Amino acid sequence: MPHVIQPATTGRAKCRGCGTPIAAGELRFGESVPNPFADGETTHWFHLECGAFKRPEPFLECLGSLAEPLESAEQLSGEAKRGVELKRLPRINGAERATSGRAECRSCRKPIAKGAWRIPLVFYEEGRFSPSGFIHVPCAQGYFETVDIMRRLIRFSPGLSDADRREIEAELKPTAA
Ligand SMILES: [Zn+2]
Ligand SMILES: [Zn+2]
Repeated sequence: MPHVIQPATTGRAKCRGCGTPIAAGELRFGESVPNPFADGETTHWFHLECGAFKRPEPFLECLGSLAEPLESAEQLSGEAKRGVELKRLPRINGAERATSGRAECRSCRKPIAKGAWRIPLVFYEEGRFSPSGFIHVPCAQGYFETVDIMRRLIRFSPGLSDADRREIEAELKPTAA
């Protein structure tokens, strides 16, 4: 069963990448994966952008196989290619304030202070995304090898306010301020 990009037939399926429903009629990416409970395969559905961000390899494979190119193909494939090249980018799962001071940054190994902005990470294995720690926002360059990650942070933390986004941007690029 190949991967597919097709309109959602109902609004019931939730995106594996962000956990929110995919609207009926919206184009979605279906990754074909081995069925863990039976013979054969099953499909994991993603919003297009969530697929490009979190499952770049199968997403690119699918984009390349489409008979008619998508309108947004260039931007989506650009993001997916960055995720293949910079292997840690697909781990990004948004941005949030640390709820305690107990977590240690996976980049600098220092504690993340309570209330500080942090980037939650997920690790993909056997069809599932598992939480795998956090990094400080200013550690992004060292960890991801890029600070061009705002779209990913917003995608997976859509509740960030404009003020939150400005704070995070300032922490991503402290030297540009
Ligand atoms: Zn999604
Ligand atoms: Zn750090």
